[in-house]
Amino acid sequence: MTALAGQMMHMPLLISSLIRHAARHSADTEIVSKRVEGDLHRTTWAQVEKRSRQVAQALARLGCGLGDRVGTLAWNGYRHLELYYGASGSGLVLHTINPRLFPEQIAWIANDAQDQVLFFDLTFLPLIEKLAPAMASVRHFVLMSDRAHMPAQTAIPGLLCYEDLVQAEDGAYDWPALDENAASSICYTSGTTGHPKGAVYSHRSTVLHAYGSALPDAMDCSARDVILPVVPMFHVNAWGLPYSGALVGAKLVFPGPHLDGKSLYELFEAEKVTFSAGVPTVWLGLITHMKAHGLKFSSFKRTVIGGSACPPAMMKTLQEDFGVEVIHAWGMTELSPLGTLSKLKSKHDSLPHDAQQRLLEKQGRVIYGIDMAIIDDDGRSLPWDGQASGNLVVRGPWVIGSYFGRPESPLVSVDGEPGWFPTGDVATIDADGFMQITDRSKDVIKSGGEWISSIDLENIAMAHPGIHEAAAIACRHPKWDERPLLVVVPKPGVALTREDVLGFFEGKIAKWQIPDDVVFVPEIPHTATGKVQKLKLREQFKDHQLPAA
Ligand code: AMP
Repeated sequence: MTALAGQMMHMPLLISSLIRHAARHSADTEIVSKRVEGDLHRTTWAQVEKRSRQVAQALARLGCGLGDRVGTLAWNGYRHLELYYGASGSGLVLHTINPRLFPEQIAWIANDAQDQVLFFDLTFLPLIEKLAPAMASVRHFVLMSDRAHMPAQTAIPGLLCYEDLVQAEDGAYDWPALDENAASSICYTSGTTGHPKGAVYSHRSTVLHAYGSALPDAMDCSARDVILPVVPMFHVNAWGLPYSGALVGAKLVFPGPHLDGKSLYELFEAEKVTFSAGVPTVWLGLITHMKAHGLKFSSFKRTVIGGSACPPAMMKTLQEDFGVEVIHAWGMTELSPLGTLSKLKSKHDSLPHDAQQRLLEKQGRVIYGIDMAIIDDDGRSLPWDGQASGNLVVRGPWVIGSYFGRPESPLVSVDGEPGWFPTGDVATIDADGFMQITDRSKDVIKSGGEWISSIDLENIAMAHPGIHEAAAIACRHPKWDERPLLVVVPKPGVALTREDVLGFFEGKIAKWQIPDDVVFVPEIPHTATGKVQKLKLREQFKDHQLPAA
């Protein structure tokens, strides 16, 4: 028996359809960029679409063909946006490289992806001068600036100028009708162990992710929003905002490399930003600056915080001191990246404030498009009771099925059913579908057969008024195997003692979970995407002697 065929038009879901939509329906909506060159640049969705067509023409003239990879090493800005649409829209594959990775890793990634052209911001000229000889596949290097900013001399052979390339084209270009399952872009995971791995997104997965992420229970974006993605365009496509921004026709504001508290605050105010997104660490700088100068926001209403656990104390400060709603979100490179966001249901309206806060502190509920489960080590699913914790697995149209160039499948089975992606996170899920990450499986502290969540310890420490940042790691213990060690960066000018900090945990957590010791450091190392580098911390303190051990 064959099913009756649907009789709807087949319109492929293409990235070019997003920019065409924005240009048609939000033609004069602004795209504002703080440029690497230091000034503020203003353009519109209509202009971005026209210049994206010129970029597509320029790439074809450089000899790029369907499926070729185009690398970028760039901050958030309109030229990067033009490449998002010009490269992907014309059937090429945009490869956004994280410039904060080690130089050898950057070259390794460009080679692994076989990038044909590399576009980069002025900031990265010295880096690319060093790396160019190691990037064997790259045929053209393009500086994302104008003639006036081109270096008089450079070690990069045949260095091209972005504005020269764009302005040489007339924009008479039709976006091609591609297969919606064709690759559109690649992001590499940060690769804390071993080489980074590439997640290859398709046009279809990207458009579906943009639809899903704009929903009210997700990022809730509309044409009335002014969106400032603090999250970089090299960190999983700035969490899809360059796409969902076009889908809803929002104004976008790009901070370029100017991510310090003062610059961000001034841009938020000057451009009347309503919505933003970023990892917890970026908000630390902004909050410190605003508190020091007694500043308030006049337009900023809500922000998504994710990428690592948002400390409840940060949530409280943003909500209560600055009137900003915090939407805690969880995602991964392999998920394009959005998986869950924490928004209350109407049945929670009658709950006391504290109970509502505890729900909002969780990583939240899935967007339609993501299916999740928690499983034990034998692949059996665990109950959604908010208590049982297990390995979090997901599936859906914007979750990877395999990694770039790797034949082996990463997928696992749940209750015998194959096709689930193991996230490497440990989580609980309650009856309403609120997921809470207990830990990255590698970061859980295993004390005498019991697990201690490093995130719980960090969340408590971050509420201490004298602590700027804290990380909990496992430390070897002769009797308990592992015990928690808390690494603390005090706020400037605050003299903290070990007893102060440990005393702060009393009554907030079971006694046996309280860290055994505290070390004070001037700085905690972060990964290229702004997460605490636990691996490095564990290495640094591997010989630390716990007092009771
Ligand atoms: P990446 O692919 O580099 O963005 O890293 C994804 C990982 O970041 C996830 O597997 C989690 O371990 C972690 N992560 C992301 N968002 C959160 C969050 N809200 N809370 C805790 N961990 C998070």
